[in-house]
Amino acid sequence: MIARPSSSSFPPLSVIFDLHCHSTASDGALTPRDVVLRAARLGVGALALTDHDTLSGLPEAAAAAEEAGLRFIAGVEVSVTWQGRTVHVVGLNVRPDDPTLLDGLAGNRGGRQARAERIAAALAAVGVGNAYVGALAHAGSPEALSRTHFARFLVERGHVKDMKTVFKKFLVKGKPGYVSHQWAELADAVGWIRAAGGQAVLAHPGRYDLGRDSMRRLIGEFKAAGGEAIEVVAGSHGAEHIPVFARYADEFELLASAGSDFHAPGEGGRELGRLRTLPDACRPIWKDW
Ligand code: AMP
Ligand code: MN
Ligand code: MN
Ligand code: MN
Repeated sequence: MIARPSSSSFPPLSVIFDLHCHSTASDGALTPRDVVLRAARLGVGALALTDHDTLSGLPEAAAAAEEAGLRFIAGVEVSVTWQGRTVHVVGLNVRPDDPTLLDGLAGNRGGRQARAERIAAALAAVGVGNAYVGALAHAGSPEALSRTHFARFLVERGHVKDMKTVFKKFLVKGKPGYVSHQWAELADAVGWIRAAGGQAVLAHPGRYDLGRDSMRRLIGEFKAAGGEAIEVVAGSHGAEHIPVFARYADEFELLASAGSDFHAPGEGGRELGRLRTLPDACRPIWKDW
């Protein structure tokens, strides 16, 4: 505990915003309630739960946030196929009962079960049996099935030593357990989020292996579709990504967001609320909240 004098000459401790994380509603390992309680314990003041293609964890998380006294932001992370690649769009402050958003997300989820069956068949072809059932044991439902669940299964079976290695060896493009898949269109994903009253954020742009021209095209199309922000600080961004995406935000007049992309304790070196700070030049997405 840090002792602080009550004098108003000290500025208030700044609130930690963590606007990207996952629960058991998608590919996280903690229940929505446990994610929120962990965030509160770690000093997060404002948290968005952003499960992949589902809003199903939001009511439980909102109730836990009320109990724990932290500010809760209803979020989602929508899977998108852009120019043959997967990109992710986070929606923040969405209305959880919006039919347009719910319908759009249901379409993405509908594809997950069939894709999982294809992933399992691809793994069987290289000698990894029973992967569908094995991955499903880690997932809440067939339509939540993600590569993360396959990754956990492969680690558990001892095919690879850890979660870091498993994607590299099995689950990324060119590897035996990767199958291509068609997610939502970029403009549709942004449109659904806006229809639900939310703000669309281009997630972890540093993860996309794009040259400068393609990155500018992606950000330009995202902005033209109604996107409002990009993640400048992200769990998968290194220190070197931050000034790069702060400049893109400035160039495209986008707000800046920050999120850990936490999935599970000890996984991927990410933790709730453990984030680099946004550069002063950025306009945080929460500035008008
Ligand atoms: P999916 O939406 O089923 O394709 O699964 C994507 C999820 O897998 C992401 O949200 C991450 O949680 C995880 N993921 C993707 N690529 C990697 C990677 N290279 N290393 C670790 N986790 C990854
Ligand atoms: Mn994930
Ligand atoms: Mn993502
Ligand atoms: Mn994520």
